[in-house]
Formats: sequence, structure tokens, C-alpha cells
Amino acid sequence: MIDIRDVIIVGSGPAGYTAAVYNARAGLKPLVLAGALDAGGALMTTTEVENFPGFPEGILGPDLMENMREQAERFGAEIVYEDAIELKLEGDVKEVRTESETYYAKAVILALGSAYRKIGLEGESIYSGKGVSWCATCDGFFFKNQELAVVGGGDSAVTEALFLTKFATKVTVIHRRDELRASKVMADRLLANEKVEMAWNSAVTKINGTPDGRVESLTLVDTQTGEQRDLPVGGVFIAIGHDPRTAIVEGQIDLDENGYIKVASPTTATNIPGVFACGDVVDHNYRQAITAAGTGCSAALDAERYLSDL
Ligand code: NAP
Repeated sequence: MIDIRDVIIVGSGPAGYTAAVYNARAGLKPLVLAGALDAGGALMTTTEVENFPGFPEGILGPDLMENMREQAERFGAEIVYEDAIELKLEGDVKEVRTESETYYAKAVILALGSAYRKIGLEGESIYSGKGVSWCATCDGFFFKNQELAVVGGGDSAVTEALFLTKFATKVTVIHRRDELRASKVMADRLLANEKVEMAWNSAVTKINGTPDGRVESLTLVDTQTGEQRDLPVGGVFIAIGHDPRTAIVEGQIDLDENGYIKVASPTTATNIPGVFACGDVVDHNYRQAITAAGTGCSAALDAERYLSDL
């Protein structure tokens, strides 16, 4: 006989773990598929989180996620460090398959998160790990005393660039417009940093490497004049946003035109009964740890109500 659980939560960022805390406290013994390599989600690759309420001095992203995991486990959540590789969401009993196991549940909460966006240049994959990175906190250390570039103008780009000033001799922030999208406090901090230079109205058109396959420069184009120039750098960090990780549910759940899961706001209900979605996989607007946690809470409560009505 198969073991049918109440609820499976796919994903372990702030949304997934918050859903787990709530469902665990309600006695539902949720199973969390936390991911094989990226458990804890995007905050695992950030440094200081200054805006999560309750931490007046700030908290490191990985510490915050560790705390959430512990809190969920304390109330009986079961955490499995595997990726969901196939979901069958229709019907009263949902199936969630990993490399080693198939799990069954009456309700599923999708907290799939988002993935780093790529510019779409050939050099991104050629030099990935050889000077091209999407994570300053992971790779910044390897670029001590080098000149670096960050692509993007949002809070991520600013956070990455500021972090890199600890290692680099100079950080050029390449932004396609002449105004940062980042919050004012972050933007001001960036522009006041003497190691930072701005390349406004600029786009990277090519990533150039040495004969032994490491990044040595970027070709930039001025988006106003079309003028090209070369920027010598030892590494480039790409921070141009994220895309929802919905490939696994494509074709079986309603997505919007940008690939985010559609929910019946203000609830987290998807078009499939018993399937709820929360966090960055739903939200293209706020995308904060606290809003992800908030919708994770909503998803847990929606799942509880769904189960109690069965
Ligand atoms: P974002 O706010 O969407 O910004 C993406 C940036 O990349 C924008 O400046 C955008 O340019 C640029 N961009 C997008 N596609 C591009 C392309 N193909 N080529 C070149 N540039 C491109 O993304 P984010 O910075 O990752 O932030 C996501 C969310 O997380 C935001 O809500 C942010 O506030 C939040 N966040 C907060 C913190 C914090 O509070 N400390 C830290 C990190 C992230 P345009 O401006 O021209 O659109």
C-alpha cells in the first residue's frame, strides 16, 4: 500500500520553509523536498540580510535559512535533500518523483523559486566558472586584487558590486540605462564607494577570454551612440534578475506570459485543486524574503483548509 501524506512542499527558500513551519505546527508532518544542491534557496548565496523583520542587527542569509529549517524540523517537518524531477498534480493523490523515490500526497505546495537570468551570450557558458559568475558571495574571493564587472542595475547588482569591492581593485557596474533600479539606500551606497565605476547606458555584447580560457575583457556597446569599447576585467558577475523555475510544471499548471504560476489572489490556489504556489515562483513584483515567507504562510493555511474540507 502506498503512503499518502497530507502535504508535500517542493522548495526550501523562505516560502517553502515558512509553509513547512505552519503545516508542521498544524500536525500535518509535511515533507519538504529541499533540493539536492540548492537547499535554502537564493538567500544561501547572499551575505547580510538587513531588512528581514526581527533582526535589528541584520542576519546572514544562510543563518536565516538554517533557522527556518530548524524551526520547521522542531515541529515535525521532514526534510529530504533531493530535487523533485517529475510532478503529477492532477487528481486527488498527487505524485512527486525524485531520483530515488516517488512520494504521494493529498496537497502539494510549490515553492520552486527562481533561477539567475542569463544575458544570452555565448561566452556565458564558455567562461562560466572561469571568470563568469552569478554569485559574488560564492566566487568573489577568487578574484582578489583584480578589476571586475557587474552587469545589472537592481538591488542584486548593487549588493554583488558592494560585496566585490572587498576583494577587487575596481568594480565597474554595467547598466543598460542611466538610472539604477535598486532602492535608493543601496544605490547611494554604491555610488559613494570609491572602488566603483559606473558604465551607464552600456550593454555587454561579447565576453572575451585568454587562450587558456579565462575571461580577460568585455566588449561593451553604448546603448545611446552604438559606440563599442573593450573593458579589461578578470571576472564578470551577472545580476540581471531571475526567472521563475517552472519548467517542471509547464504544460500541467496555468502560467502567466512570463512563466510565473498563476494563483487565485489573494489565495495561493493554482488552477489544480490541492496545489498551491508561493514565493518567487508566483511573485514578479515584490520578490523579497519577507513576502516569500508571507505567501508561504498563506499557502500552508490554504492547504490546511483544503485538507480539512476533503
Ligand atoms: P531586478 O530588480 O529585476 O533588476 C534587474 C536589473 O537587471 C535591472 O536593472 C534591469 O535593467 C537589468 N536587466 C534585466 N535584464 C537585462 C538584460 N537582458 N541585460 C542587461 N540588463 C538587464 O532584479 P534583482 O536586482 O535581482 O532584484 C530582484 C528583487 O529582489 C527586487 O525586488 C529587489 O529589490 C530584491 N532584492 C533585494 C535586495 C535587498 O533588499 N538588499 C537584494 C537583492 C535583491 P532595467 O533597470 O533597465 O530594467
